[in-house]
Amino acid sequence: MSREILSLANAATQKLRAYDPGHDLPALRTEYGARLIELGSNETSLGASPAVAAAITAALPDIYRYPDPKGGALKRALAAQLGVETAQIALGNGSHELLMLIAQCFADAQSSVVYSQYGFAVFAIGTAAAGAQAICVPALPADHAAAPLGHDLAALAAAVRPDTRLLFVANPNNPTGTWFDDAALDEFLGRLPDHVVVVVDEAYAEYVTAPGASSAVRLLRGGGRRNLIVTRTFSKAHALAGLRVGYAVGSAEAIAVLERLRESFNVNSLGLVAAEAALADTAHAARIREHTAAEREWLAARLRERGLRVFPSQTNFLLVDFGRDAREIEEKLFRHAVVVRPMAGYGLPNCLRISVGLRSESERLLEALA
Ligand SMILES: *Cc1c(COP(=O)(O)O)cnc(C)c1O
Repeated sequence: MSREILSLANAATQKLRAYDPGHDLPALRTEYGARLIELGSNETSLGASPAVAAAITAALPDIYRYPDPKGGALKRALAAQLGVETAQIALGNGSHELLMLIAQCFADAQSSVVYSQYGFAVFAIGTAAAGAQAICVPALPADHAAAPLGHDLAALAAAVRPDTRLLFVANPNNPTGTWFDDAALDEFLGRLPDHVVVVVDEAYAEYVTAPGASSAVRLLRGGGRRNLIVTRTFSKAHALAGLRVGYAVGSAEAIAVLERLRESFNVNSLGLVAAEAALADTAHAARIREHTAAEREWLAARLRERGLRVFPSQTNFLLVDFGRDAREIEEKLFRHAVVVRPMAGYGLPNCLRISVGLRSESERLLEALA
């Protein structure tokens, strides 16, 4: 007697679908070579600091050993830069892993998790994997002046129920690019009951220059709020997406909870030294920030000249509304070897998300659009 293997999976897994990676990029790289323009994954075309390659080369002879399970050196460097204690930091195999871990630690089938419509996709996946009930709160309207389709903080706070254990926000958010400032975050946190752990996903924090907007890490200095966790990553502004290093900052108590379930060697030895080297090269980081801000505004202006709606962004990508189903446009760009990210999966079929690349890459994109 045979039985569908899926029927043996737990209830949460049965409801999940495998991640859809989109186009087969390795195959496309083989096919197109240097002609391929990759603007679909919010990577940084400037590349990582040269110090990273040197650090990896120096660490290669020791790859037969397990990595430092505590990531002590990287945590000390992060703690010094962020102004927190090392006990307030957990490291992850990318911040994606940490978001999943947080959901696994704090949510279960008896609880609910609150996040925004158009919020980062992993919030929904982590919630589903934990078997928790998702409370997806409508986003701000598309004609909102400051944050179109962004998080409605008042509605998110109002959606919290007695069984809510987690609330995810992303600041700035992917895929909308929208953000909120410190005053808005403070007011929002003041409205939340203490049975809710608030996660502020700051994958793009390094890019933020808007007045009054800084990192929620400021609330974690000197011990900090017990139920606030901030996640950050080396994938975006530090250009290390391929090495998978992220971190969470919280109260020492909250981080200790994550440590109970964290895989002992979740960050590999090359990722650890690479992240340390990237963090130390503040000049390269500044170059990436400045280049991205300037090229983002240049590209946004060119797209707006074409009559397209470009959402405000404090990140290294732009959400662009084409005013009609964008699938055909995405396919045509693809035939010109320009890869961007369709947004139908997020419920935004008229939009494409486009990474801010080098000027030459943006020009290729604009030519292909023409
Ligand atoms: C890219 C991204 C992450 C995950 O990045 P990792 O590579 O897993 O560190 C997390 N949150 C948001 C909003 C992102 O866009």
